[in-house]
Amino acid sequence: MGLALVHSRARAGVRAPAVTVEVHLAGGLPRMNIVGLPEAAVREAKDRVRSAIVCAQFEFPARVITVNLAPADLPKDGGRFDLPIALGVLAASGQIPLEALARFEFVGELGLTGELRLVDGALPAALEAAKAGRTLVVPAPNGAEAALSRDGEVLTARTLLEVCAALVGSRALPHAVAPAPVTPRGPDLDEVRGQAHARRALEIAAAGNHHLLLIGPPGCGKTLLASRLPGILPQAGEAEALEAAAIASVSGRGLDPSRWLERPYRAPHHTASAVALVGGGALPRPGEISLAHHGVLFLDELPEWDRRALEVLREPLESGVVTISRAARQCEFPARFQLVAAMNPCPCGWAGDPSGRCRCSGEAIQRYRARISGPLLDRIDLQIEVPRLPPADLRPGGVPAESSATVRTRVEAARALQLVRAGKANAQLGQAETMLTCTLSEHDQRLLEQAVEAMQLSARSMHRILRVARTIADLAGSESIVTAHLTEAIGYRRLERGPGRLAA
Ligand SMILES: [Zn+2]
Repeated sequence: MGLALVHSRARAGVRAPAVTVEVHLAGGLPRMNIVGLPEAAVREAKDRVRSAIVCAQFEFPARVITVNLAPADLPKDGGRFDLPIALGVLAASGQIPLEALARFEFVGELGLTGELRLVDGALPAALEAAKAGRTLVVPAPNGAEAALSRDGEVLTARTLLEVCAALVGSRALPHAVAPAPVTPRGPDLDEVRGQAHARRALEIAAAGNHHLLLIGPPGCGKTLLASRLPGILPQAGEAEALEAAAIASVSGRGLDPSRWLERPYRAPHHTASAVALVGGGALPRPGEISLAHHGVLFLDELPEWDRRALEVLREPLESGVVTISRAARQCEFPARFQLVAAMNPCPCGWAGDPSGRCRCSGEAIQRYRARISGPLLDRIDLQIEVPRLPPADLRPGGVPAESSATVRTRVEAARALQLVRAGKANAQLGQAETMLTCTLSEHDQRLLEQAVEAMQLSARSMHRILRVARTIADLAGSESIVTAHLTEAIGYRRLERGPGRLAA
């Protein structure tokens, strides 16, 4: 008697490792010690647990209470363990039945009056509790999110008292219910006028999962185009959507459970810090690149971004994972995002515009473009110009543009071919796979070699051209890559066609 064990879950990256809360009561001058939490978190937890127990009309034991959170080396943010600690105190002092606790896991922060407050990472906790074969009890505001796990049983409670009533068997807790998913209805491509070239590039990007750079003057519609990409990507599978939802769940910014099947679209401002972009913090949280997992990351004004922040993108752009090191601890977050970047063609934004209003010197334009590192540019398969629309194109009426749904049908057909052929999207093909699946006729091979020579492209860029050509062929339903597919693909390496040519 005097010892209780309660199961709980910590938050570490997108995982929810098991934590055992051991509560031991002994004689002596009444006090409460919590072992295994940082000092400040311990103080606050003590106050909340004591107050919640008293408010729920239970007795706070006048004994020596020792609480141990094991294992000791796990990352532990304070609040989520309030509920298991309070239950441990009540069970160890015989106020609720000990044996009732074993098949449950609990997370939840307590308010001073015993109400249960939202915690981060309820979805990963639910996924892992299900694997352990235990029922998870979460605060009511976390219910919809935790219910996305589906496999296990998740119950919700509003107060400590409700949990205790369920444990003594007087009133059952309600099951968590996932809201009906709303049909994804992001902004639609039919609202984009003109820009046939950019729409085509967007469709290719979607079909092959290629990164895309849009170059054009202010107001030409770069943001408008980028925000339409999620809507034409193949529908996310449940496994993919669940991965993205788990990241949102631990982000501390909340997750809208009704929109979990939508592909994420993140558009951070260029003043965002490296930590905001890639993730970090004392108990690391995911950054924008992870919040865009299986979706789209839009970086506007690319040359304005802190170069160091952009450099960090290189690794996740290749591997789909970002590793955050913090003191002795390492933490990984998935970050398989599709990048859409945008920039003006020159510092004033009007280079190449027929109005001739650009007065930037060639040198200034060079400096501006040099702010984007070659290795980053190398990783962007499609680079296109988006011109300002002539006023005639903006007149009302005319032929309505194609809708996102129509374009998505073609994208899904092209992606299906890729999955059958290589088990992945074309943009993810390795070098050897590219050589194997993107073969050219002898004539086209020479054509490609001439282009590589003339544009002074790296081997990496050459492989990217081949993969884009493969996607163009897939969109055409063509078994082989023909000359037209290849020349179109070469045309999408806009920034590499020799210095200064863009402005000409
Ligand atoms: Zn200019």
